[in-house]
Amino acid sequence: MAASLRPEVPPMRLSQFHLHTSKETPAEAEIVSHKLMLKAGMIRKLAAGLYTWSPLGLRVLRKVERAVREEMNAAGAIEVLMPSVQPKELWEETGRWEKFGGQLLKIQDRKEAWYCYGPTHEEVITDFARNELASYKQLPVNFYQIQTKFRDEIRPRFGVMRAREFLMKDSYSFHLTDEDLGLEYRNMYDTYGRIFTRLGLKFRAVAADSGAIGGAVSHEFHVLADSGEDAIAFSSGSDYAANIELAEAVSPGARPAAQEGMRKIDTPTQKTCEDVAALMGIALQRTVKSVALMGVDTEGGKTDEGSQFVLALVRGDHVVNEIKLSKLAGLGEYRLATEEEIDQHLGSEPGFLGPVAPKKAIRVVADRSVAAMADFVVGANEKGFHLAGVNWGRDLPEPHDVADIRNVVEGDASPDGHGTLGIARGIEVGHVFQLGRKYAEAMKLTVLDANGKAATPAMGCYGIGVSRIVAAAIEQNHDDNGIAWPEAMAPWNAVVCVINPKNDAAVAEAALALYAELNAAGVETALDDRGLRPGAMFADIELIGIPHRIVVSERGLAAGSFEYRHRLASEAENLDRAAVFARLA
Ligand code: ATP
Ligand code: MG
Ligand code: MG
Ligand code: MG
Repeated sequence: MAASLRPEVPPMRLSQFHLHTSKETPAEAEIVSHKLMLKAGMIRKLAAGLYTWSPLGLRVLRKVERAVREEMNAAGAIEVLMPSVQPKELWEETGRWEKFGGQLLKIQDRKEAWYCYGPTHEEVITDFARNELASYKQLPVNFYQIQTKFRDEIRPRFGVMRAREFLMKDSYSFHLTDEDLGLEYRNMYDTYGRIFTRLGLKFRAVAADSGAIGGAVSHEFHVLADSGEDAIAFSSGSDYAANIELAEAVSPGARPAAQEGMRKIDTPTQKTCEDVAALMGIALQRTVKSVALMGVDTEGGKTDEGSQFVLALVRGDHVVNEIKLSKLAGLGEYRLATEEEIDQHLGSEPGFLGPVAPKKAIRVVADRSVAAMADFVVGANEKGFHLAGVNWGRDLPEPHDVADIRNVVEGDASPDGHGTLGIARGIEVGHVFQLGRKYAEAMKLTVLDANGKAATPAMGCYGIGVSRIVAAAIEQNHDDNGIAWPEAMAPWNAVVCVINPKNDAAVAEAALALYAELNAAGVETALDDRGLRPGAMFADIELIGIPHRIVVSERGLAAGSFEYRHRLASEAENLDRAAVFARLA
């Protein structure tokens, strides 16, 4: 019988595979996907934020990769593979060697030359492009890779959801004109929709931070799940959806001002947070009692660029939201800070989360190293001036209290005037961004245009958290018995379970035949021939989330039927062979 299996068929007989499930609920896991990935034996922790994918986990990861790769190819993107280790010199060209901050893992080789382990690849692809692209005729072009990234996250957590080493699909497009960039951005936006739909995920595309500050356009794709670290606001009456901080920033009263883009704070005598908020064009929501501007140091406390601020919306002793601002080159101009910048700050100040100091909580503080701010802010680095003991969602072991945030905007009018806002938690699984010419200019990438003149291409970048998707999918697809994979992500689509294979040759033979026929018919099917007792076998199969289960037993054979059950069905059914194939093939 075994001879009928072609040797190139990967081991799908579970007796020859490596499954290692556990009944214990791991104590270190806080969210359901992390628990289930450990129980199912999909991942094993090596060190903080570093995980080995077991054979089972890897099958799922590869499914995600495959869907991403096929859709990217279909969208016209071209695959490349860049090194994960990147030389410091490239990062100095864009200024990010210093600016990127603590997430950048810097390493030295034996000659003491500096490198980083790539957290992203804008520099490397722009270097590639400046060597490869000479003429507008080569544009537009979109290069993508599926590659391991490393980000030294302050708080790696939730398993592969926020790991330090993780798998990302990142792509970078190059265009002669902004119009072309806009077209490719739309193409990628639509492609991301197709990818997440194909993977069977409930998701939402939302306007991201930069959308509010003019110029750059950016959208995030969120898988909706209560455990999500992000809060997104969406309208009941339109397609409007945005990061909660963006929804704040463009709340009806403040919208026109916020949309104008960067606010210039040119009156350093402003004293109160309300004044700052007004200057920033941000309307405080009615339930928010106050707001505090908090200073954030960058690495080394640079005074000229890159100092960041968090505008925290405070209610009682809780920070219910934070609007991220950070200082750009040129004193007094601000933009929304990135997640990295905030993370970096939160981790750089262990004393930050001390006991509540209510009186001091509501005051404007900032980085005193920024001279222009000195008049209206006080030293952020002084003890007691930070908001202390506040409920920062991202830092809590439990997901952020949704009710807190709901009070801020739920039920409020949507900024576009259609319907009211609701709030959902989201997991960021994708991010598309119009970079413009920032990197191309910094790295002197030019191509010759139709007139033979040097032109600087516009760029877009597009990321997908391939490994994070695995965890995010579980957050959406599980029950008390374990994972319930969407078809496109399942390690196998079906499993043939053999009752008592060692003692019942006829049953074993029938099961092996069914298993081989299903595979031949294109249904990726495993054979559970491990000889476990039915209860233990079924518990494993439910835990690891195989969509279709077919049981071959002596009793069934005698009746000419197989017992079929879908992972989410409440009852099993007895089906004959033709009916099984009709269900699956
Ligand atoms: P986050 O806000 O969750 O930190 P990000 O905005 O920093 O993510 P991007 O730079 O936009 O991430 O990277 C593209 C994608 O890579 C993200 O949308 C996310 O799905 C994934 N990703 C980012 N950081 C991690 C991580 N630490 N672990 C797993 N996946 C990640
Ligand atoms: Mg983000
Ligand atoms: Mg991040
Ligand atoms: Mg992002």
